[in-house]
Amino acid sequence: MIVAQQKDFDEIKEMIRGYKRLLVLGCQTCVAISFAGGKHEVEIMASMIRIDRKMTEQDVEIREDTIVRQCDFEFMDPIKDQVADADAVLSLACGVGVQTMAERFPDKVILPGLNTGFMGMTEKLGVWSERCAGCGNCILDKTGGLCPVARCSKSLFNGPCGGSVDGKCEINPDIDCVWQLIIDRLKKLNRLESLEEILPVKDWGVSGHGGPRKVVREDLIT
Ligand code: SF4
Ligand code: SF4
Repeated sequence: MIVAQQKDFDEIKEMIRGYKRLLVLGCQTCVAISFAGGKHEVEIMASMIRIDRKMTEQDVEIREDTIVRQCDFEFMDPIKDQVADADAVLSLACGVGVQTMAERFPDKVILPGLNTGFMGMTEKLGVWSERCAGCGNCILDKTGGLCPVARCSKSLFNGPCGGSVDGKCEINPDIDCVWQLIIDRLKKLNRLESLEEILPVKDWGVSGHGGPRKVVREDLIT
């Protein structure tokens, strides 16, 4: 899932300054799992804005809603009247959702209430960590299911770098050296020999370094 965090409320206040009719819009998918932009967070954000405007004697009319996914046009029709009525939409979705909203409603100001972080997993309640950098050519079959692109501080393809100490990364001792984890796991799976294959230099062109990427499936296009 995509992991995001709410922006600082002062930054949000500055962003929405001057808008009197606001729609605070949540997204019920990834950002709800990371407690950043689901229904509950929309309610709290709307209340905070109301309280702030009351305390500063500024008018505001706030509507709240949450849709299944802001990154998909399919779910936007039910909110089109609310969007039309608002001066601006404060989107509590990831950056993809904000941009999809802006594309669907080109005449409307769509503001990002979140900072989008990464693709990751829930380690435990309140802790999310990065797992995939969307590199465009997955090599998890060769690395025991652990990603060196996203999880090695140097994104080494043929690691380790030699600097890890007690299984911790030399760049950031707070994180495990993923190459240590890879070796431990391959040992456990009896597949250590797969590390004898030197992986070729990565083609970063499929990782977005050549501009925004697109997937086209002709067989699905009607
Ligand atoms: S190798 Fe690439 S696609 Fe596979 S998990 Fe890592 S970043 Fe994601
Ligand atoms: S110590 Fe491990 S995780 Fe850190 S940069 Fe070196 S190989 Fe990568």
